[in-house]
Amino acid sequence: MIIVKSPDMGKNKEETIMHVISDSCVACGSCSETCPAGAIAMDDNLGRYVISGACVDCGACEDACPMGCISAE
Ligand code: SF4
Ligand code: SF4
Repeated sequence: MIIVKSPDMGKNKEETIMHVISDSCVACGSCSETCPAGAIAMDDNLGRYVISGACVDCGACEDACPMGCISAE
């Protein structure tokens, strides 16, 4: 599992929300197309989609994923 911390937007680190993509991902690209921050992209080296630090924690990708494999932790 790849975990990339989202920016804390001035909040305490303890309050920082992380969005993660589980191993159930089928690389359909729906989350990447939906993300308003352009924070989800295929990492060619890892061969999977990853969420970058540009994430603003809007939650849109969670709703867009047909596999339900994106969650906030
Ligand atoms: S929570 Fe929002 S900003 Fe963050 S990766 Fe998902 S769609 Fe993009
Ligand atoms: S929408 Fe879900 S299954 Fe599709 S690429 Fe994103 S994380 Fe993977």
